Amino acid sequence: MASRESVPAIKKRAARVSAALAKLYPEARISLDFATPWQCLAATILSAQCTDERVNQVTPALFREFPDPRATADADPERIQKLIVATGFFRQKTKALISSARMIVERHGGEVPSEMEELIKLTGVGRKTANVILGHVYGKPGFVVDTHVRRLTRRLGFTKSIEPAEIETHLQALLPPSDWTPFSMRLILHGRQVCHARIPRCGDCAVAKDCPKIGVVRIAPAAK
Ligand code: SF4
Repeated sequence: MASRESVPAIKKRAARVSAALAKLYPEARISLDFATPWQCLAATILSAQCTDERVNQVTPALFREFPDPRATADADPERIQKLIVATGFFRQKTKALISSARMIVERHGGEVPSEMEELIKLTGVGRKTANVILGHVYGKPGFVVDTHVRRLTRRLGFTKSIEPAEIETHLQALLPPSDWTPFSMRLILHGRQVCHARIPRCGDCAVAKDCPKIGVVRIAPAAK
């Protein structure tokens, strides 16, 4: 597992890590509630800087009143702001919801696009959100890179990059497409529950034997 580890050896290690995490987290889906592609997109936009639980508390009322892009495109921004205030950054998120809904209506006939290139043109949609949509709605393998995935893929020695697009490429080269979405979702869960940013629980980690950073992660001093 040193830096001279060969590509075949890294691939084998990635497969072992993927299998171990699959055992630990068999349910590899986002925990956001949604019934349509638009609702998945809207819920994912709302989940920025917010827990999925909190998003799931506000989306039933939001989707009752504004169930699809057409309804959202014509919405009164103040009404949406009121409905989503609990998710934080509610003014920016309202703008993103209305603007992306308008783009979907005007450019895509009201249907959420199913291509990465089109998804990332929508307001408030980056590669992470686009990959969630591709993987969870359209069954197209997408590697979701959030803050946890960025941290864990580096600690596990699967990439040296911090750029989401590069991390996607590096991980896609290590694993079969069918693993991309579930593996990234499992890394998020493992980052939340075990491999914490400041104090990783290496002693409780199911992939410790395959981790080059076991016990040697440097903890940054707390900000004053
Ligand atoms: S061994 Fe430690 S650093 Fe490595 S993945 Fe597990 S918790 Fe994270």
